[in-house]
Amino acid sequence: LLYVVLLGLFYVTLTFGVVYTGRVLYREARLSRMKTDFVSLVSHELRTPVTSIRMFIETLALGRVKDPAQTQEVLKMLTQETERLSTLVDRVLDWSRIESGRKEYHRETLPVPVVVETAVSAFRAQRLEGDMQLTVDVPEHLPPVQVDRVSIAGALLNLLQNAYKYSREDKRIALSVRASRRWVDLTVEDHGMGIARQDRKRIFERFYRVDNLLTRKTEGSGLGLAIAKRIVEAHGGRITLKSELGKGSRFTIQLPVHKV
Ligand code: ADP
Repeated sequence: LLYVVLLGLFYVTLTFGVVYTGRVLYREARLSRMKTDFVSLVSHELRTPVTSIRMFIETLALGRVKDPAQTQEVLKMLTQETERLSTLVDRVLDWSRIESGRKEYHRETLPVPVVVETAVSAFRAQRLEGDMQLTVDVPEHLPPVQVDRVSIAGALLNLLQNAYKYSREDKRIALSVRASRRWVDLTVEDHGMGIARQDRKRIFERFYRVDNLLTRKTEGSGLGLAIAKRIVEAHGGRITLKSELGKGSRFTIQLPVHKV
């Protein structure tokens, strides 16, 4: 009997040892992967705006631009590049807070239209160029949700921005809200380039961007959807996607109804 007990103990210790070492190694590997991702992001995405900003400042400092209208133009580009840099830094910080479990959510019970309005007004404030047509359909009598307004509106804003960025001429975007007994669905539909089946899962991974001409020409970090997914899941919800290549996409944020 003693032999069996000792053997049992030995196996239990061994299993714990293996599992523990495995977890430590996994964590190490994840950390090192995060660092590699971060370094490649810094070297590509962050360097571009920094280089342009430096160039614009030098142009102004050397007094090369004499015409006031041209000076305004350079200042406008300088502002745009600075904003781009600042958005990117915010995204990276947001992602690192989520990954390390330091992101805090301030949940409140809110009417759905308040959340929608927060995202829509931020989207409109960006004054995007081109013939963008946004329709917003929010029915009356919706059940409330319990959310961190800034985070959820941010996730919705990201869907709206993507709908705009990844559409060519036809920039009709429809935001609609539907509710069932348990869920409130916030759907953003576009008539853009669509997403191929093999990319549909992967676009929610961090830093993943579909490799095509339009994406290459469009600014982005590949972090937006990864952040949005984590935020929605932290609220007990999920993001679903329906899409057809060349026709358009429908992203839906599903949030649990807050029962009072
Ligand atoms: P970003 O836009 O910064 O690259 P996201 O995480 O928001 O990062 O999106 C990841 C990728 O998913 C995008 O690079 C793009 O290739 C694809 N994508 C996202 N939204 C859409 C959309 N509405 N239509 C087509 N492709 C999209």
